[in-house]
Amino acid sequence: MHMFQLRRADDVDAAIKAASAAQTAQQGADIRFLAGGTTLIDLMKLNVETPQQVIDINHLPLDKIEPTADGGLKIGATVRNADLAHDERVVRDYPVLSQALLSGASAQLRNMATTAGNLLQRTRCVYFRDEHMACNKRNPGSGCAAINGFNRTLAILGTSDQCIASNPSDMNVALMALDATIHIRGPQSERDVPIAEFFLLPGNTPNKETVMQPGDLITHVTLPAPPKGSRSLYLKLRDRVSYEFALASAAVVMTVTNGKIETAQFAMGGVGTRPWRNADAEKTLIGKAPDKETFRAAAEAFLKDAKPQSQNGFKVELAKRCLVHTLDAAAKLA
Ligand SMILES: Cc1cc2nc3c(=O)[nH]c(=O)nc-3n(C[C@H](O)[C@H](O)[C@H](O)COP(=O)(O)OP(=O)(O)OC[C@H]3O[C@@H](n4cnc5c(N)ncnc54)[C@H](O)[C@@H]3O)c2cc1C
Ligand code: SF4
Repeated sequence: MHMFQLRRADDVDAAIKAASAAQTAQQGADIRFLAGGTTLIDLMKLNVETPQQVIDINHLPLDKIEPTADGGLKIGATVRNADLAHDERVVRDYPVLSQALLSGASAQLRNMATTAGNLLQRTRCVYFRDEHMACNKRNPGSGCAAINGFNRTLAILGTSDQCIASNPSDMNVALMALDATIHIRGPQSERDVPIAEFFLLPGNTPNKETVMQPGDLITHVTLPAPPKGSRSLYLKLRDRVSYEFALASAAVVMTVTNGKIETAQFAMGGVGTRPWRNADAEKTLIGKAPDKETFRAAAEAFLKDAKPQSQNGFKVELAKRCLVHTLDAAAKLA
C-alpha cells in the first residue's frame, strides 16, 4: 500500500476546498473521497488505487432521504445502501431500487456502502484488480488481458477493443430505469447530470468511466416521481444465490392500462460496460398487450448489438430470458 494523507471534512465546502487545495499543491494529485470504503480501501490494498490524498466524507450532512417538491425523492450521497433499501418511501414507490440494493453484496457491506460509492464502484474484471496484468483501464496503453483471457463475467454490450469490463452495480441498474439525476459539486462547477449521460463507454479511454472531474463530489441523487400506477421489479441472475455479482439482471418500471402497456422503462446489468438502457427496445412495448411474444421482441431489440467474447456467449440468451421474465412478472403485479 502506498503512503497517503488522510483528512476529514465536516461540510461540503470544506471537502471541495480540501480537494482543490490538494490538487493545486500537488499539481494534479490523485484525490479520492472516502465513503464506506468497501471499494476504495480494497483497491488501495491491491495498489490499484494509489491516491495521495484521501478525504473522509462520512461526517458530511449528506445522509438524508427527503421528498422533493415534484413528488420525487432526494437521496444524500452518504446514505447507506441498507438505509436506502429499507426506507419506507423507497419500498413503497421505488420497489425496484429497494430490491436491487438488497440483491447486492452482503448485509454487512450494505451497512457501510453509500449511494455515491455504489455509483462509482469499479469493475470486478480480475485483471483490473491485479497490478501485474495488462489492463487499459488501470494502466492506459498496457493492453487488455481479458479479451483473450477470463471474460465469462464481462460485457457483451458497449465494449471496445480496449476494454470489455462490465459495470458491476445492481443499484445503478435500478437508477437507470428510474431516470435518476446525479448532482455534482466540484472546484470548477456545479452540475446536475441525468444518469443516462453519467457513465461513459470505454472507447479508447476505458480509464475514464464517468463524467466526474478530479475533485468532484457527488452531493445527492434525485429520482422523479414514479409514473402514476406503475409497477416495478428487479431480477438478478448469478452463479450463486447470494454474495455474487450479476451475470444478467433487469430493472423494470411499467404501467399497464386497460390491458395495454402505457409506459415502459427498463435497464439491464451484468451485460453492459455501463448499466444498459435501450430506447428502441422500450418503444416496441408501448400500446401492446403485455404478453410473452411482445416481451421477447423487446428483448431481441435490446440485445441486437450484443458482441459476445470467447467465454460469455451464453449471456446473450440468458439476458433475453432475464428481461422477458422480469417484464412478464412486472406486468402481472397487482
Ligand atoms: C465482497 C463484495 C461483494 C460485493 N457485491 C456486490 C453486488 O453483488 N452488487 C453490487 O452492486 N455491489 C457489490 N459490491 C460493491 C459494493 O456495492 C460497493 O463496494 C459499494 O457500494 C461502494 O460504496 P462505498 O461507500 O463503500 O464506496 P467507497 O469505497 O468509499 O468509494 C468508492 C469510490 O467512490 C468514490 N466516492 C465515494 N463517495 C463519493 C462522493 N460523494 N463523491 C465523489 N466520489 C465519491 C470514492 O472516492 C471511490 O473512488 C460488493 C463489494 C464487495 C467488497
Ligand atoms: S476488460 Fe477492461 S478492466 Fe478488464 S483487463 Fe481489459 S481493460 Fe482491464
